Amino acid sequence: MAYEYDPENVFAKILRGDLPCTKVHETEHTLAFNDINPVRPVHVLVIPKGPYVTYDDFTANASDAEIVDLFRVIGMLTRQLKVSAAGDGEGYRLITNAGEHGVQEVPHFHMHIIGGAGCGPMIKRDA
Ligand code: 5GP
Repeated sequence: MAYEYDPENVFAKILRGDLPCTKVHETEHTLAFNDINPVRPVHVLVIPKGPYVTYDDFTANASDAEIVDLFRVIGMLTRQLKVSAAGDGEGYRLITNAGEHGVQEVPHFHMHIIGGAGCGPMIKRDA
């Protein structure tokens, strides 16, 4: 997969303010918002503000500040959203999909925080 960033992807439009979102949290480097089509009661997308396509693009090319910020925001949100398994929740699943085999729909790196109900088996063996 080529890492040519498409500035017309929907998350780029959300970052530019061209599309609305239900914001959950924002920092200098990171934006978190509710998924438009939630699969569980808690379904938040956490994205860097920079133009990264996948996890491997992000971790290879983003600054340490951007990387630390995104992962700290995820941890903070698990507590704020009350899904923290170590806190006052029942746990959650973090997912990032990359490329064709990962079945990535939106080509702007994002992590899904999914919880509020059981998430089922990790992946079907014969998917
Ligand atoms: P992916 O398959 O790329 O990991 O997941 C993309 C996610 O983005 C999906 O869960 C989908 O529901 C969500 N999504 C797609 N378009 C929009 C949108 O315009 N707004 C929001 N909030 N979520 C979106």
